[in-house]
Amino acid sequence: MSLRITRRDFLSGVAIGAGTSLVAPSQLLAQVGSQASAPEGAASVHYPPALTGMRGSHPGSFEVAHALARDGDKPTEYRELDEHYDLIVVGAGISGLAAAWFYRKKQGPEARILLLDNHDDFGGHAKRNEFHHDGRMVLGVGGAQNLEAPDSYSLIVKGLLADLGIDTKAMAANTSKDFAMANLGANNVLALPAEGGHEIVGSNWALAMHGAGDYTSLVRALPIAPAEQDKLLSLFGGGKDFLDDLSLREKYEYINTVSYSRFLLDRVGLQKETLEVLDAFLRVLNGFTGWNHSVMEALTAAAPGLPGMGWLAGKVHSLAKVVVAGVAFQAQYFPDGNASVARLLVHRLIPAAAPDATGFEDIATSRFVYEALDRDDGDTRLRLSSTVVGVRLQGDEKVEVDYVRAGEALRIAGEHCILACYNRLIPHLCPDLPSRQKEALRYGAKVPLVYANVLLKDGHAFSKLDANLVACPHDPFTMVSCAPITTTGGYEPPRGPDDPMVVLMMASPTPAPQDDESLRDLLRKGRMEVYTTSFETYEERIRDQLQSLLGQHGFDHERDIGAITVNRWPHGYAYFYVSLDDPDWPEGQAPHELGRAQFGRISIANSDAEATPLMDAAIEAGWRAVTEQTLSGQG
Ligand SMILES: Cc1cc2nc3c(=O)[nH]c(=O)nc-3n(C[C@H](O)[C@H](O)[C@H](O)COP(=O)(O)OP(=O)(O)OC[C@H]3O[C@@H](n4cnc5c(N)ncnc54)[C@H](O)[C@@H]3O)c2cc1C
Repeated sequence: MSLRITRRDFLSGVAIGAGTSLVAPSQLLAQVGSQASAPEGAASVHYPPALTGMRGSHPGSFEVAHALARDGDKPTEYRELDEHYDLIVVGAGISGLAAAWFYRKKQGPEARILLLDNHDDFGGHAKRNEFHHDGRMVLGVGGAQNLEAPDSYSLIVKGLLADLGIDTKAMAANTSKDFAMANLGANNVLALPAEGGHEIVGSNWALAMHGAGDYTSLVRALPIAPAEQDKLLSLFGGGKDFLDDLSLREKYEYINTVSYSRFLLDRVGLQKETLEVLDAFLRVLNGFTGWNHSVMEALTAAAPGLPGMGWLAGKVHSLAKVVVAGVAFQAQYFPDGNASVARLLVHRLIPAAAPDATGFEDIATSRFVYEALDRDDGDTRLRLSSTVVGVRLQGDEKVEVDYVRAGEALRIAGEHCILACYNRLIPHLCPDLPSRQKEALRYGAKVPLVYANVLLKDGHAFSKLDANLVACPHDPFTMVSCAPITTTGGYEPPRGPDDPMVVLMMASPTPAPQDDESLRDLLRKGRMEVYTTSFETYEERIRDQLQSLLGQHGFDHERDIGAITVNRWPHGYAYFYVSLDDPDWPEGQAPHELGRAQFGRISIANSDAEATPLMDAAIEAGWRAVTEQTLSGQG
């Protein structure tokens, strides 16, 4: 299986079926809104980015789709709206927004486009969390974090970034070199639970795992037996070939067919408890443990161990260090993550929604007017809180789309439709698709993730950690970071410890396998875990973890936490194939390739259609779908 090496491969990087128990469909259709609460000063204006509480897949956003996917329930009667569009896009994530932009570029600004999304905010995973405290706005990343290795983006994607005025060199210059998520050379530490608060092992844990710096002292500082430390030193530093009894061919076979965790247990001889420490980065980058990565996949995702491969010894050791430093630098951040890309797209598509924005220079600080997204006089309209439940070809001439909004069942028509939503939901939306295609669309399972943003009223305790990226392998949130320290988009990040700051806490709910469960089974379990965990439980975990981490520096969670936003993503990353589970399909026969086939006036976008959980894949999918619809000679 060929691997695409990116930040996620390196560090970082529908089953609608499962979920909370369902209420009756009639009640479902009446459910809208969110349990989230607005922050100080934002009460009267509808402004979703500033809502706190449970966000991401927020209450009110998923119930209609779950009823359809689980029980086949959907309204039987629809009110037909007197609206007709050239293009209807289902899903206003990056893929859907990009598709709308490409279509408009090809067909002209007068093209009539409608985007529908089930959430109360646009951007899909690219969501912004905005906090206000003491007159300052503090931003956080609600989902998709960064432009990962933008130099390697295709011309199509680079072209879109250029259309939006995104200057990745300026982004690099605007980002603090102390921000460890963008620069692994900056201080980052390992934190292990201990009596009286977490024990911190510093100062550059991520590089130490690759044998850089004084890794020996760091490993010797770990609260584990000396014999276990010795094994870690060999793993990190090299000098031993863990596969020395195998021929070159056998080694190649081994690293592609044996899990990384099995390798660590059997070949390195580590204890099971130590494995968790090495899993922290993998879990956050790719969303699951070393048991579901082959050795090869884990190593290309920057898990430690390259030097112990023998056949690449020496060279590989120094290569790993270069990779660690180099790739990390290529990830570019807006202060609210890729939400700024979504905002730039909406700004270009619907200028009235961002009346004061000029573009890249001020996008992060511009206020959006949500009421302007869906105005009668707009050529492009974006309709939120609208869950699509049916998409049908009507003869050769048009496509009919059914959706539910605020409990009402509505029907509209368009010349073309692009499904930029989730692959697994599409067979429920379009039962008329060929069976083989529906089967292919059902193959993947999205990778669940949870990103919590915590507003701290000041940064005194956090700054005493002397590192802004903390691996917490034994905690509910395995990685803790400050929000991006960047001035991109006109943003002013916290200037010092007196200012309020946002802490990003990242969790991967997908469990390790108990027996021979497939990765897709485990991802479904993880999704169930996300849907059945209440905000209160997340809040308790967040407060406990931060108190233990920062308490030794004077932190008092009751006094110092200003707000908490939990972004749960039960349907997170697009499924990407793993060599331990997925066959090597012939060219063009992989499920995502079969699943994305054009169906007359309906095309399929979304990162699922590329089996790649990255922004550039989502954009390319949007481009392909628009190309299909504009070149097909239909309309
Ligand atoms: C926590 C997290 C972190 C990530 N970090 C990065 C990163 O750093 N860099 C990177 O490049 N990528 C990252 N990604 C990957 C991210 O998925 C892609 O970059 C990209 O944002 C996906 O866009 P999309 O439009 O394909 O899908 P989505 O963002 O999922 O958008 C699809 C939209 O369609 C909506 N929809 C689904 N069904 C319906 C329906 N029936 N009716 C109406 N609307 C519907 C969905 O709710 C959603 O809003 C991250 C993802 C997650 C979850």
